Amino acid sequence: MNLVSFSIKTKGAHNFARRLGTVFTRFGVSEAPTRQALYTIIDSLRQYNAEPTFFIPAVVLRRHPELITEIAHSGVEIGIHGYIHNDYRLLSESEQYEQTRQAIAVFEQTPISYRGFRNPYLGWTEESLHIFAALGFMYESNEAVIHDVIDLDQFTPLLRNGYEKSLELFQATTCTAYALRPHFEGALLRIPTSIPDDEMLFDRLRVTSPKRVGGIWCKVMQRVYELGGLYTLNLHPERGILCKRALDILLSYAHNQPLPVWVARLGDIAQWWKERSQFRLNITPQAPHHWHVEATCTPRATLLARYVTVEDASLTPWSGMDVCIQSHSFTVHAPRCPCIALSLQTPEQVADFLQEQGLPVVRSSQEEADKYAMYLDIAEGLGTTREEQLQRRSALMEQVEQLEAPLIRFGCWPNRSRAALGVTGDIDSVTIQDFFLRVLEVHQHT
Ligand SMILES: [Zn+2]
Repeated sequence: MNLVSFSIKTKGAHNFARRLGTVFTRFGVSEAPTRQALYTIIDSLRQYNAEPTFFIPAVVLRRHPELITEIAHSGVEIGIHGYIHNDYRLLSESEQYEQTRQAIAVFEQTPISYRGFRNPYLGWTEESLHIFAALGFMYESNEAVIHDVIDLDQFTPLLRNGYEKSLELFQATTCTAYALRPHFEGALLRIPTSIPDDEMLFDRLRVTSPKRVGGIWCKVMQRVYELGGLYTLNLHPERGILCKRALDILLSYAHNQPLPVWVARLGDIAQWWKERSQFRLNITPQAPHHWHVEATCTPRATLLARYVTVEDASLTPWSGMDVCIQSHSFTVHAPRCPCIALSLQTPEQVADFLQEQGLPVVRSSQEEADKYAMYLDIAEGLGTTREEQLQRRSALMEQVEQLEAPLIRFGCWPNRSRAALGVTGDIDSVTIQDFFLRVLEVHQHT
């Protein structure tokens, strides 16, 4: 299936005709309009000392190496968006492997150091994950979390239908605190991405007013902040100028939250999650109801506590039941050991999962259960299918988040941040020529 038939299938012939109309207003025969759009996004983020992450198909990079190298040198992260702009779900495993390898080869001819991969149409498969890990990618960013912050009843059935087709195309999962966190699958980090993206708002729902778009993004940010997760905004640079005000509204909203929101490139988020995965909490009894806590971590770790009296360290307010501890070695007074105990028959997989979530874990027999903040006996583990795993992991994290008992743990984000925001976008085309070559390239590879 080529791009034309693919687009028509997922967007409808009517939408495809509209799309062609916008191509001539957003792209030029020269790089100039795209350059201006890229710098519009870059400049908005600079005001907050932050940088965006852009993904680009290798063939597009090959046609515009100077422009992309220039923005990479200015601090922007560039990731791989396929060799050509096609859907990996339509490829065999060996085709996926070959195209990913070809894409890497093109990137290696430039000074750009890539760290991540995002598929066109977020079209990943189980095979893609193995390929990304085997070819040394640090992360991928394809798992789409849907934020239902839009009242769909106010749209016509035709527009709603188009929007729902996008949800299907992106294999969207529902939003939970756990779904909003990165997670490791082997050595590969999976960084969730958020939808609706700019295309779903502009082209599907025809929401184009900057104030309205900005308002929707702030609603997503608000929810991500409350859940302490990551908001990966998807904004195609071709709409960079149209979205400038909306982006400024979002960045200002994020900046004005009571606790910091970490605005970061996805590669830095991957680096942080890797660093954090090595953090450990060692809790030892000192006297009755007194525990010494030794945190093995880097200085930027966020250490949180609830329902304990911290005796020899200063505290700063945080969120909900938690306070933030300013020391990595301290003593707490608590009626129970501030950690999570697992039964002996609970598989190691559960311990690894809780540790990745920043929680201290010990093993204990059922008789000692009430000595700990929480006791878990999950002999069956965390599920087998992806859907089951997501559900069980989400439910378990919700249980921990709501726990009204003594608990020490690591927060998700560095330097006391409550949430994170990654501004990302796919540079599918730089010029009008790229847009039409895309049709040809995809056709040649099918
Ligand atoms: Zn794309």
